[in-house]
Amino acid sequence: MILVVACILPAAIMVGSLIAYQYQREQAQFRSNAITTARTMVFAVDQRLLVVKAGLTALATSPSLRTRDYSSFYAEATATLPDLNAENIVLLGPDGEMILNTLKPFGSPLPANKASQLKQVVQSGKPVFADLFTGAVAGTHRVAVGVPVIDGGKAGYSINASITPDRLQAILLQQRLPAHWVAEIVDTAGTIVARTRDQERFVGAKVTATARKRLSEVSEAAVDSTTLEGVPALAAFSRSGLSGWAVVIAIPTDSLTADLRRSMLWLGFGTLLLLAFTFALAQALGNGIVRTTRGLIAPALALGSGEPLAAPLPEPWFREAAQLGRALEQAAGLLSGANRALTQSEARLRAILESAMDAVIIADEDHRIILFNAAAEKLFGYSRQEALVASVDRLVPERLRDDLAARLDAFGQSGDQYLRSTQVLVGLHRGSEEFPIDAAISQFVEDGRRIYTFIVRDVTERVRSHDELVRSNLDLQQFAFVASHDLRTPLRSIKGYLHLLEKRYGPGLDVKALDLIHRASNAVQTLDRLTEDLLSYARLDAQAKPFTAIDCNEVLADTLQLMDAAIVESAARISAGPLPVVLGDRGQLVQLFQNLLSNSITYCEGHAPEIRVTSELGADGVWTISVADNGIGIEARHHERIFEVFKRLHTSQEYPGTGIGLAMCRRIVERHGGRIWVASAAGQGSTFSFTMPVISEVHHDPAT
Ligand code: ADP
Repeated sequence: MILVVACILPAAIMVGSLIAYQYQREQAQFRSNAITTARTMVFAVDQRLLVVKAGLTALATSPSLRTRDYSSFYAEATATLPDLNAENIVLLGPDGEMILNTLKPFGSPLPANKASQLKQVVQSGKPVFADLFTGAVAGTHRVAVGVPVIDGGKAGYSINASITPDRLQAILLQQRLPAHWVAEIVDTAGTIVARTRDQERFVGAKVTATARKRLSEVSEAAVDSTTLEGVPALAAFSRSGLSGWAVVIAIPTDSLTADLRRSMLWLGFGTLLLLAFTFALAQALGNGIVRTTRGLIAPALALGSGEPLAAPLPEPWFREAAQLGRALEQAAGLLSGANRALTQSEARLRAILESAMDAVIIADEDHRIILFNAAAEKLFGYSRQEALVASVDRLVPERLRDDLAARLDAFGQSGDQYLRSTQVLVGLHRGSEEFPIDAAISQFVEDGRRIYTFIVRDVTERVRSHDELVRSNLDLQQFAFVASHDLRTPLRSIKGYLHLLEKRYGPGLDVKALDLIHRASNAVQTLDRLTEDLLSYARLDAQAKPFTAIDCNEVLADTLQLMDAAIVESAARISAGPLPVVLGDRGQLVQLFQNLLSNSITYCEGHAPEIRVTSELGADGVWTISVADNGIGIEARHHERIFEVFKRLHTSQEYPGTGIGLAMCRRIVERHGGRIWVASAAGQGSTFSFTMPVISEVHHDPAT
């Protein structure tokens, strides 16, 4: 309906405007036509006057006038009268006195009053067209044409012919104007001389002062005015250049606007009719559209719920509906294809899930299990049916359930996609025995609800072998500790005996024997140092302390103090940049720095050692601390070996040492969760670097 109104109303307004515009133009045209008509009528009147004038001029040359033979002239005038189509002919003397009048028999007495207007004929010596006056003889209205009689170069008489309004009216009526139009002749004084309607009533009446003024101002115009009957009308007039009289045509305004009103009425009526018709049509079309569209609802819903499009689609009422219907059918086809693909991929996924070695469990936002694969059944001892109604809480020991729930919710809120346990967790079998597990959790959102996926692995084996490894390591350490500790006592005895031997029997022994004793005690010394180093290496774990925040700047300061004598003796220059605070074992960190610094001092030849300790924070949040020297350097092929126990690149004669230092360093660094390496080349100095995790990470890592 809105569409119909929107279409038709502007068109109706447009047509209305066009009609109004056309009307305006027609009006203008009409006015100009009315003036032309008035002009034509003026022309007709002028023709008539000219005929009269010509007849009179001919009479004026009559010889009987010159001889004053008025009787003959009377006869001539009477004979001419029919040709002139005038009322009568009058001969006037120089002062306007009447000499003869064809209305009266020749010789009969004539009125004495003088024709004032026609006097001018003699005075001016030119023809005159007299305005409306009352004839002295007939006593009725008339106008007159007068011409002078020139005798001896000057006008002595005037011959005049009078024309009655009836005769003038006949000229107007000849034009056959429409019945409701009124035409009138108005003389120079603004008096109505002739009129097509109600002539008797209006001849002699004056037109209004404004009309008169307008008539005197311009020779032609069309103005809105009112007729003498009081009817509003369009008055078009044209004034004669000959007589100064004007023909006025009055056309009632009503008749002019009637056409417009009729057009507008028809337009309004037509618009209403069109509206009614188009409303009905729109209603019919709309019903069809509604019917067809409603018919598509059920198939669309069926499509949405994945059902086949049961019934054939309704007979489409318009082309787009047919297209939509086809699209629905196509969509149904695609959907069933997609469904098939979905079913296939579901089947594949299920196959993967069921054959997976790890337990896969999916739980919803409320921790309710919605998927439980075969491995999960085996791992936790629940059948799928049992698990599917339970909460994941049931898969951990009771004491850990709150913790699990809290962690899951925190993970859900974190928005992270993935979470992997950093420590071994505890699972609970249906038979209530606990076992160590490793779990990775991921989450996604489905229909606005959070879904968690757990991949759980039984790590009983791994934990057991790890425990065994730890135990055997401990055994080994214990062994090394006991061995080195127990070795020291006999070593000390050997040392003592060698000392005694040298002291007591030294003076009696020859140089060779003395040398042997020296060598023996040197070997004992080396062995002692070795056992001592071995002992401290073995004690590393035994003496380990819990980690605390340690400022490495202080560790370095302590180390330098401990090494004061060696530094002074070697004239080593040691500089250090700012070092980080790390989480560690202070004693071990001092050992670490001490080993690295003393190596840098030891393995330097020919110049004073220059050592620089620096630190750098990597993008991965890990600190790297480096000890760089200008010593003898290490060939690349030895870069790995030097960190092994007892691995040395030199003899004790060349450089003292036991080959334990760097092995200790590696153990300390690894215990702190870092790694250690060297960058060096022979003769180029060495840079030993090790990493320490940043303190915040270390602090939050629940595994530590
Ligand atoms: P030790 O110093 O007791 O021999 P280490 O385990 O400390 O044992 O070092 C092993 C070997 O690595 C050393 O024998 C030495 O050859 C080499 N080394 C260690 N530090 C440096 C260094 N700063 N410059 C050159 N060589 C080094």
